[in-house]
Amino acid sequence: MCPPSRGRRAPVAPIDPNACFNHATADKAGVCLDCGLSFCGRCLTTFQNAAYCAACKNYRTRIMQRRPDSSKLALASFLIALAAGPVMFLLVPTSIIGLTFIIERGLALRWKKVIPPDVEKALDLCRSKQDLGMLQGICQQQPSALSRLLLVALEHLSWPKEENADAIQTRARHEIAQMERGLVIVEIVVGIAPRLRDIPALCIGRSPR
Ligand SMILES: [Zn+2]
Ligand SMILES: [Zn+2]
Repeated sequence: MCPPSRGRRAPVAPIDPNACFNHATADKAGVCLDCGLSFCGRCLTTFQNAAYCAACKNYRTRIMQRRPDSSKLALASFLIALAAGPVMFLLVPTSIIGLTFIIERGLALRWKKVIPPDVEKALDLCRSKQDLGMLQGICQQQPSALSRLLLVALEHLSWPKEENADAIQTRARHEIAQMERGLVIVEIVVGIAPRLRDIPALCIGRSPR
């Protein structure tokens, strides 16, 4: 490609291939590699071991100067891709871990799991000391948070009421800790997942939206 030949000889005059394109009276010394026109020795310049006319040489020089900009852009894109890559790889496992715990806790903390209807019914029907055996049997058959609390109460029936209540409270705290297991991980994942999106922006020094 060659820029328009501004300020050169009027195009109406026939071009003599043996004379300089700029100076009709000067003999051709060579041909510009880019535009293919003939030029005298004064008009031709050597650039990167090849002969060019002044206009074509200037055009090439400008292209060369522009190159560092595009390479900087490529480098920036590469760095962003590098930074974003691991983040994307982090997003997938955190999503999977989060979802797994949500499902696992969702199943474990269902009302029927914590308070089985049969145990609830047995507790309602328990009116006298004779019914305690029935209640204990059902609690042992259907392990759950409520069943384990009732078994603690039944085991310590001979204890003073306050001490029995303490034993139940201790067991209840343990049950709550069991129920909350995994929720911390869900909270962490929920907390950091939106931040992961901002990491590539932070890496290139831009403040995230
Ligand atoms: Zn040229
Ligand atoms: Zn010339």
